[in-house]
Amino acid sequence: MRALKHICGILLATAGVALVLGGIAQMLDPKLDAPWWLIVLILWLPGLLFLGGAVLLLRRSATDLPPTCCPKCGGVERAPAGVLTRSSNPWIMYLGGWLLASFWGASRQQQVRCVQCDNLYFTETRGTRIAGILLWVFLLLLLLGSIAERMGTE
Ligand SMILES: [Zn+2]
Repeated sequence: MRALKHICGILLATAGVALVLGGIAQMLDPKLDAPWWLIVLILWLPGLLFLGGAVLLLRRSATDLPPTCCPKCGGVERAPAGVLTRSSNPWIMYLGGWLLASFWGASRQQQVRCVQCDNLYFTETRGTRIAGILLWVFLLLLLLGSIAERMGTE
């Protein structure tokens, strides 16, 4: 059920962003003489509703983190590791540019340091969860964009 909510949330967010971006593109198009309120009504309003629904669906998966404690001593207090462990994937950098690469890096588990025993370990944070969601939304938007482009040229 949670996975379903997560997937639905990501799809809703993608649809919402696509509608809002579509509205902006329509407004910037000088050839189009549709009144601005029509664009707001048919693109932005549903787009914002979708985004609102996505936030409701995804709120729990971003905040409901499993309790993690130090694997060595069980301590729950932790501090940032202080070392830069952002992983970057050269393939993602090549395919999707810096934006995708930074979402990817931010969605990886973060290294933290146990306050009690100085053990270093990896854990999920709210930031990694949100970045993971953004990564999927961005990937789906890229996919939608390339499909639309292909359909437009045929
Ligand atoms: Zn510890």
